[in-house]
Amino acid sequence: MIRKLIGKVLRRPGKQVLHAKHYGIRRDQLHSAALKVCDRLQDAGFEAYVVGGAVRDLMLGKSPKDFDVATNATPEQVRHVFHRSRIIGKRFRIVHVPFFERGGEEIIEVTTFRGASDAPTDESGRILRDNVYGTIEEDASRRDFTVNALYYDPNREVIIDFHHGVSDLESRKLAMIGDPVKRYHEDPVRMLRAVRLATKLDLAIAPATKAPIAVHARLLENIPSARLFDEMMKLLLSGRAWDCLTALRENGLHKPLFPLLDKLVSQASTAAFLKKALDNTDARIRDDKPVSAGFMFATLLWHEVEALWQKKKAAGEHSVPALVDAMNEVDAKVSRRLAIPNRYGAAMKEIWLLQPRFEQRVGQRPFRLMEQQRFRAAYDFLELRAECGLADKELAEWWNKFQFADDVMRSSLIASVPREKQEAPAAGAKRSKPRRRRKPAAGQSGE
Ligand code: ATP
Ligand code: MG
Repeated sequence: MIRKLIGKVLRRPGKQVLHAKHYGIRRDQLHSAALKVCDRLQDAGFEAYVVGGAVRDLMLGKSPKDFDVATNATPEQVRHVFHRSRIIGKRFRIVHVPFFERGGEEIIEVTTFRGASDAPTDESGRILRDNVYGTIEEDASRRDFTVNALYYDPNREVIIDFHHGVSDLESRKLAMIGDPVKRYHEDPVRMLRAVRLATKLDLAIAPATKAPIAVHARLLENIPSARLFDEMMKLLLSGRAWDCLTALRENGLHKPLFPLLDKLVSQASTAAFLKKALDNTDARIRDDKPVSAGFMFATLLWHEVEALWQKKKAAGEHSVPALVDAMNEVDAKVSRRLAIPNRYGAAMKEIWLLQPRFEQRVGQRPFRLMEQQRFRAAYDFLELRAECGLADKELAEWWNKFQFADDVMRSSLIASVPREKQEAPAAGAKRSKPRRRRKPAAGQSGE
């Protein structure tokens, strides 16, 4: 009892200034752009700290994804120090400071300390704008988790900790600052962040932070679909994509975000398909290779598209128009919750549209298919389907040989396809016109 009381007293928020080197953080571990931003702001007479995920990740011995800087300079004052910077955002104004180094662009996000005064909210308590500025201490209590409220000053080489973030990190605990229920109402996306960060960093969500999540999951229905898409991308690109989706389900958060997940994982073959695709994505992220968001969403939604496609074909529609209809219907349904930007949506649809064309192994068709810009992604997708029993293994193997064969070998491969497997649905389409005229979809040109 007394120990509990002492514990509570000790956990009262209070400023702690800690020597960074005792926690494994050195100035030279920061990106040079983040150092320059801190140095120049401090030279101009402002306070400036590296804050948030970067400090947390460095303490965990991981390399940070990005570097954020917090300062007492207003966005306009930051703009004044960095002439190439730009102010972005309305709800939450921040400054992007670009640096061009080693052939690439690095953007440092600079935020002005947020004030503690009550920001305007909607009827559910969601913060609508948050542009009231304040002190570093106020800023710390507006951040989400204790481990995300650590401020590192690269010049004094100290960490400033107001909410016991360092000790939580040492005991691998993810705890919300303040009253979790109130903080989830202010911004329901914090529930998704809790699940993602805990999974990605192997932290345990503190009981008081975890308990309200399942009860308040529906608050996410209020969040614009573009922001939900961004959060979904962060989950998928976390390096632990499958675990993140599993944790979403365990916490009941997938329902407002991606309800199709239940159906997807309820069948062994589709669950295996998704898991393989996501494990592959994780491996690419580990190896620092690019990842295609179009491909990821193609795998997430294929199950639904395929079921609808088969239904339409069974009802007498021709294969390609049936697939186009199925794709568009699924896309429309999903985009109410997750606004998949066109650049990813187009790639996703091309991958799907090329799937029936793998079956057309006659004449020039296989050659024309190989010229398609998305052939490689579409083939990888077919291979993945075949590996999980969702497509003909023989078909995937045939294509594996065909794409690497010389012309003579290719001709003999085409000749080797049994007549009943030489499916050419486009020939059928010639006999009876498609129901509607359609603009040729990308990836369909030349057919
Ligand atoms: P990562 O970049 O690894 O995904 P992060 O914690 O750095 O994780 P960012 O989105 O880069 O996430 O945010 C930077 C910091 O801004 C966070 O560490 C946290 O302090 C604060 N922050 C971000 N989103 C919220 C939020 N919804 N509510 C309160 N604070 C937030
Ligand atoms: Mg970050």
